[in-house]
Amino acid sequence: MSSHRRFTEPKIIVASHNEGKVREIRDLLAPFGVETVSAAELDLPEPEETGTTFRANAELKALAAATAAGLPALSDDSGLAVDGLDGAPGIYSARWAETGEGRDFAAAMQRVEKDLCAVNGGPNGNRAAKFVCALTLAWPDSHVETFQGEVTGTLVWPGRGTQGFGYDPIFEPDGHRLTFGEMDPAAKHAISHRADAFAQLIEACFRNPATG
Ligand code: IMP
Repeated sequence: MSSHRRFTEPKIIVASHNEGKVREIRDLLAPFGVETVSAAELDLPEPEETGTTFRANAELKALAAATAAGLPALSDDSGLAVDGLDGAPGIYSARWAETGEGRDFAAAMQRVEKDLCAVNGGPNGNRAAKFVCALTLAWPDSHVETFQGEVTGTLVWPGRGTQGFGYDPIFEPDGHRLTFGEMDPAAKHAISHRADAFAQLIEACFRNPATG
């Protein structure tokens, strides 16, 4: 018997102002007949991400939306955690790319490489990293269900590929010879940290145990 709260409401807020994430979450929920509305469509403010973990940030975003709007809300917080850098950039993955005039991921990837070379004493050594994704489903009564997914891999330099976004060009997932930037989006989505967290969420809160 699962102790997770199941989702039975007809409508959910996708608590993100990132259009790519909203689209991905909408597609995922489509088979469950759930109507989705985004935080931007409801004009909800974006809370400051003051947490120190992916889980804390995902929970504060989902809770802010659910309690403000009186509807359940789903949020995602994700990033790249590099072993040799004690998990950096981690929850600051987006912030490492901020320039004041938009985001520059080429510069952020360069910083990761520079810092890693400094720690390793050169381009070789420990180049292990993982992408992490925390997904939170929150209800207006402040109940939360959070699931964390990850995918482990190795950082390559220089980056390769133009698909995907963010740090995808420098991340080669374990068991593959292509980076996320070179992979077909469907191939990435089959093994990604987000797919892992989504699968756990669907299993725990959405799938009908009787009919699958
Ligand atoms: P968030 O929107 O605050 O969760 O920030 C997530 C950040 O982590 C993104 O801006 C990217 O920098 C990075 N990130 C998360 N998932 C991925 C991914 O699948 N590929 C590449 N970068 C990612």
